[in-house]
Amino acid sequence: MRLSDHFYHSELTRSHLAVRHAIANQPAETEICALRQLCIAILEPVRRHFDVPIVPSSGFRCRALNRLLGSADTSSHCRGEAVDFEVMGVSNIKLAHWMAENLHFDQLILEFPDAADGAAGWVHVSFKNRYNRGQCLTRLHSGYEIGLPQFHKPL
Ligand SMILES: [Zn+2]
Repeated sequence: MRLSDHFYHSELTRSHLAVRHAIANQPAETEICALRQLCIAILEPVRRHFDVPIVPSSGFRCRALNRLLGSADTSSHCRGEAVDFEVMGVSNIKLAHWMAENLHFDQLILEFPDAADGAAGWVHVSFKNRYNRGQCLTRLHSGYEIGLPQFHKPL
């Protein structure tokens, strides 16, 4: 099932961990609607701008899968409102800055970046159908920091 021009249901629900544990990880209709909005508001504009295919690493997570990952039941991934991804050939810091300047979202988290390695970490982003906070955070091993690091380094 297609969710938007370039993104399919399978790409936003697949998980190696779910397969390994025989978890179906199937979203309900409400969560599919949220995933569709996420694709249209976030993934499509990113794909259009950088003009390369994007392979999401984690989109929807049913509660069982999310718990296996050690994430809280309140995670926006469980509502189909969040996706983790990277863009091939673009540093995650550069990607996060572009998104912060050009997109509407609830929360953007630059996860475990490394100034010396643009491919390190990934970007988590969530989108809701209203009350999007536009909050940017950076997650380091020491905890969360407000905002994004002010360095750009090509991959
Ligand atoms: Zn995430």
